[in-house]
Amino acid sequence: MKLEQLRTRYRQPLFDLISQSRQIHLEHWRGEEVQRCSLLSIKTGGCSEDCAYCAQSAHYSTSLEREDLLSIEQIVDVATRARAQGATRFCMGAAWRGVRAGTEKFERVLEIVREVGALGMEVCVTLGEIGPVEAGKLKAAGVTAYNHNIDTSPEFYPEIVSTHTFQDRLDTIAAVQASGMSVCSGGIIGMGESEDDRLRMIEILSELDPQPQSVPINCLMPQRGTPLENQPPVDIFELVRLIAVARIALPEARVRLAAGRTRISREGQALCFFAGANSIFFGDKLLTAKNPGVDVDLALLSELGLNIEAVSRTTSTTDTADSESILSSFTDGSISDLKTVVPNQPANKRA
Ligand code: SF4
Repeated sequence: MKLEQLRTRYRQPLFDLISQSRQIHLEHWRGEEVQRCSLLSIKTGGCSEDCAYCAQSAHYSTSLEREDLLSIEQIVDVATRARAQGATRFCMGAAWRGVRAGTEKFERVLEIVREVGALGMEVCVTLGEIGPVEAGKLKAAGVTAYNHNIDTSPEFYPEIVSTHTFQDRLDTIAAVQASGMSVCSGGIIGMGESEDDRLRMIEILSELDPQPQSVPINCLMPQRGTPLENQPPVDIFELVRLIAVARIALPEARVRLAAGRTRISREGQALCFFAGANSIFFGDKLLTAKNPGVDVDLALLSELGLNIEAVSRTTSTTDTADSESILSSFTDGSISDLKTVVPNQPANKRA
């Protein structure tokens, strides 16, 4: 969807906009279902890149504790527990610029993917920049979905990252698409970008061919020690409007209300779900200080009459856990647990 169309939609009276996005949502999804997912950080901190929002960047002095790449045994142990709790997908993220075929760490990642895949779960990863060779090998090893956020507009991107380019991000996404893995890609708002930057981000995501199957919308969680540590919270109605236009422009994508929910009221979150968000990060184990507790989320979903998707062994390629940006947003560096539930085909694709 072109920028001008997005602007027109976005600038309507709020209730007109969310009426339209709700209608589109219901044409493609079960309106009462919300997917929940969580992540395992397999390598934390010490990243060579200088993403201004990220506590994992080695360029900034943050309180994040670094962790080397976890051992296969550690990861398989967590994945096995995840499976026992009903997970059908397992998502792993690593804080580094990217990986290249032929390196020891890439071989270890492939082994990790194979081992986790052997447990009978789908595997999702976010490993930074990759090319066609790496994408092909990851796909062959058993990766279902790859997360790589475009973060913001191409115009604003140089304001937040100087160590790689927006085009680098698009190149990785193209390699993922060509490999047959599904794409999870979204962005972050609240970094000082303009309304047009946010809409350009949606324009670019919506014009990917095919469109991403999953679109995380993160609200910046300012990290002490990073250049964006003093950014104010995102206005709730701006967030709702962005989610609504994302739903309209990407009707078959999961729109994930990702980082930043601790700064959004219950009522604000409800409005986001109504406008088209149908996925959240869930679990206070990973998100100790930065995500609502499981009980709080369960109570909210229950009060809203929203269903958490049932655990199922059914497989799907329409959604994925993420995200590099999410992993980067949490300062505790703790190892998360698992992706809890997955399935839910778009309504128009269900048998
Ligand atoms: S967002 Fe990713 S690439 Fe950027 S500094 Fe953080 S971990 Fe590194």
